[in-house]
Amino acid sequence: MARYSPSLQNLISRLGKLPGVGGRSSQRLAFHILSMKQDEADALVNAITEARKLTRRCAVCQNFTDSDPCPICSDPKRDKTTLCVVESPRDVSAFERMHEYNGLYHVLHGVYNPVGNMNMNDITLTELFARLTEHDEIKEVIVATNQTAEGNATALYISRLLAPSGIKVTRLASGLPMGSDIEFADDITLASALKGRKTIGS
Ligand SMILES: [Zn+2]
Repeated sequence: MARYSPSLQNLISRLGKLPGVGGRSSQRLAFHILSMKQDEADALVNAITEARKLTRRCAVCQNFTDSDPCPICSDPKRDKTTLCVVESPRDVSAFERMHEYNGLYHVLHGVYNPVGNMNMNDITLTELFARLTEHDEIKEVIVATNQTAEGNATALYISRLLAPSGIKVTRLASGLPMGSDIEFADDITLASALKGRKTIGS
């Protein structure tokens, strides 16, 4: 016999599929949802529905946005000569929170994994190179992928492909701990890693 009613069991299983939510947490969340006031529960359901419906990728930088192009790409005050390449939208958020970077972004939605079975089309490298060809005002590409084997391989790959173009390719300084995620770096560490960035591939 099931421990819970089918509907509750279904909610627990759905929540348990979310990243970082284990068996215990999924039960705790399900019971919390059941104990919420009706309007709060409706607001949660609405938030999921709205985000799914309205959020799309910016055609320029590939970041998640409600408006295309996104507010950063359409801001005339941003420095259009510098492009910061990151793995995920969470990294854009980390850079923006720091208030030390005024250039544009490009979100890869992953990293190049030379030993895995990953398809290169899964990440937005094609869009990146098309953008660089189209916008010759971009003079520097800062590869701000995480300091992991895959992040470093991605940086090297980008620098090799861009070598003939004359675009300067830089990498964040190694102040960030090896294997750490940029999204969790504190503002001071990230700012100094950005300031101390070094040219790669030359
Ligand atoms: Zn954008």
